[in-house]
Amino acid sequence: MQDIQEKGTISIHTENIFPIIKKFLYSDNEIFLRELVANAVDASLKIKRLSSLGQYQGDISDIKVEIVFDEKKKIITISDNGLGMTAEEIKKYINQIAFSGATEFVEKFKDAKDANEIIGKFGLGFYSAFMVADQVEIQTLSYQEGAEPVRWICDGSTEFEISKGNRTKRGTDIILHINKDSKEFLDKNKLQQILDKYCMFLPVPIKFGTKTEQKSDSEDKEGNPKYKSVEIDNIINNTSPIWTKAPAELKDEDYLNFYKELYPFSEDPLFWIHLNVDYPFNLTGVLYFPKVKNDFEMQRNKIKLFSRQVFITDEVKDVVPEFLMLLHGVIDSPDIPLNVSRSFLQGDSNVKKINSYITKKVADKLAELFKNDRQAYEEKWPDIGLFVKYGMISEDKFYDKAKDFALVTNTKDEHFTLEEYKEKIKPVQTDKDGTLIYIYSTDITKQDTFIQSANKKGYDVLVMNSPIDTHFISQLEQKLEKTSLKRVDANVADKLINKDDNTVHVLNDDEKAKVKAVFEKAITKPNMHVEVESLNPDELPVIVTMDEFMRRMKDMSQLGGGMSFYGTMPDNYKVAINGNHKLIGRILQTENKEEQTQLAKQAFDLALLSQGMLTGAELTEFVNRSVSLI
Ligand code: ADP
Ligand code: MG
Repeated sequence: MQDIQEKGTISIHTENIFPIIKKFLYSDNEIFLRELVANAVDASLKIKRLSSLGQYQGDISDIKVEIVFDEKKKIITISDNGLGMTAEEIKKYINQIAFSGATEFVEKFKDAKDANEIIGKFGLGFYSAFMVADQVEIQTLSYQEGAEPVRWICDGSTEFEISKGNRTKRGTDIILHINKDSKEFLDKNKLQQILDKYCMFLPVPIKFGTKTEQKSDSEDKEGNPKYKSVEIDNIINNTSPIWTKAPAELKDEDYLNFYKELYPFSEDPLFWIHLNVDYPFNLTGVLYFPKVKNDFEMQRNKIKLFSRQVFITDEVKDVVPEFLMLLHGVIDSPDIPLNVSRSFLQGDSNVKKINSYITKKVADKLAELFKNDRQAYEEKWPDIGLFVKYGMISEDKFYDKAKDFALVTNTKDEHFTLEEYKEKIKPVQTDKDGTLIYIYSTDITKQDTFIQSANKKGYDVLVMNSPIDTHFISQLEQKLEKTSLKRVDANVADKLINKDDNTVHVLNDDEKAKVKAVFEKAITKPNMHVEVESLNPDELPVIVTMDEFMRRMKDMSQLGGGMSFYGTMPDNYKVAINGNHKLIGRILQTENKEEQTQLAKQAFDLALLSQGMLTGAELTEFVNRSVSLI
């Protein structure tokens, strides 16, 4: 090529798209750096590939990308020694912006919600440079034999200029003359922060430095003084992160170290899954199960999404199933384009496949852990239980797999699978209609009296004390046949499971009515409904319970489940009087009405006390009364 001299118009048939780009993309304009570095990396990988195919004989031993900025001159330069471009290639790849025409563009950008969407749709990666620059210059030299260096310059209008360039070595410099509004990018910390975000795991070494105004002693070939280039950092990235390696090459330590690299201040994860598929889509990655703290929100958005090692986003909502959002780690898929947008993710069929693949992988891993080392699995259960239950509630497919390794835990801290548990309680906890009754406690300290009464009857009590359990309980009732769950204090132990057994009735109807009247008079606390029942003589004389259905509705309304009607209702309790208890007989026989009332009050307060429901003035009154009774 002779002296290259050409002026022309970028072939988009609209007056000037750059103001549009700037205006619409302003919010996330930092991605210009990601786009340009990604292009430099692509060019580097391409020359390596050509070399390995024997199509290029030159030196590729020092492939790298350099980002250098000059605060005084207001320049950021992204340089690579990749394959470079010829003038023809610039015309083809840079000048002819890859979209069909202005009409389509103008039509579509109107609805665009973010920069990624526009850039992705129209192949404007390179042009994102104009979000931050008034003028963009390319200096490039193609790897091809006899290629001439080329310079391309454009000031953000549709006019460009191509001329002879100054590069003497293969590769490309993209020189950005930063505009007034984007001075923030001429800052070491700012650039470092962007590079840390997007470039941490790029497959080519990335160097980052500043150029000072100082002239150095040496001169270049033409006798111009060279500017001193000061490297601030050497290579800033890890070019072969573990997800690009084969699982067989890796030790536990490698996974743990990588976790630390990603989340420097976190506790070690419980375990991890190495993802690796190449059909029907490409996906690699490592997902970690963290130790779940109660602060769920803090833990979300910890999965990073990459495309060929370029960071895209940590909002993986549509790629990763909702219930796995608490996992940590990385996912890398070239099938997700670099400049992906939310609307793309939602509609893309690959993304849907990725989603179900991840669900399956997680289920398989859990099944494997359960099968291989049940004890270790049980120890981890308090942490993984949350994921598993959440998954079982939100995805039927996951439920079907997880039902074999989901555990329930009883008050004795024994773990069972759902099937095991069913078999365990069937003989004792089936009611007269053949329904299996699971009994659970949400607070083993407060509900201790009830748990003990239930245990006395031979009933087992499960612990369901995490926030998700309310939903898990409903899910189990829907999924398990002829099964119903009741909180241990939903009724007196004798009536938790409705069996046709003949309890002795010590009191006749007349006596029952009398007892009821005595207690109704004695109990001044509101919303207490007295009922005289024939219970085991060993049970307490008075037991206070709240109906399962009523309590659940109230719980739901508190969780914001829309049942606000129940939320406004007062707590209604049943006060079960054990007609078969000795004390009740004594109350009946007591002539003195005052003494009768005192005994009834005492028995009622004891019931409240055993459930931690006796506080304040009521507690003081109880203590005083107890003293006088002694
Ligand atoms: P994409 O990267 O999606 O192809 P871009 O707008 O980012 O779109 O880049 C357009 C084209 O310009 C690239 O495909 C490549 O051919 C060329 N290109 C951009 N930057 C470089 C570079 N640093 N070295 C070589 N070619 C480049
Ligand atoms: Mg690109």
